[in-house]
Amino acid sequence: MAWYRRHYTCPCGISWWDEWSCLCNDRCPKCNREIEPDDHEVVEAEVREIEYEFTLPDGTKRYEFVDPDAGYSVMTQVGMFMAMHGAIIALPVKDKPND
Ligand SMILES: [Zn+2]
Repeated sequence: MAWYRRHYTCPCGISWWDEWSCLCNDRCPKCNREIEPDDHEVVEAEVREIEYEFTLPDGTKRYEFVDPDAGYSVMTQVGMFMAMHGAIIALPVKDKPND
């Protein structure tokens, strides 16, 4: 996913930078006018890896991270790890409540 740092200049005299995943308009924090970005740069997308737990036929577990931005779909990557480990079950690891 692309991530943009966008620059806005408002006719009321102020300018600011903002970061978001699209090049949409922003509202002036001073006069609330809707402003189109007049400059932008593409910045690194934040890493949003998902940890998956793979269960092997003997009951042991393997853990791998799947990257949604890697260019392969999540399910393709999960399938690759399943084949690599010979896993029979793959589940995304939920956030542990007491961690
Ligand atoms: Zn303004």
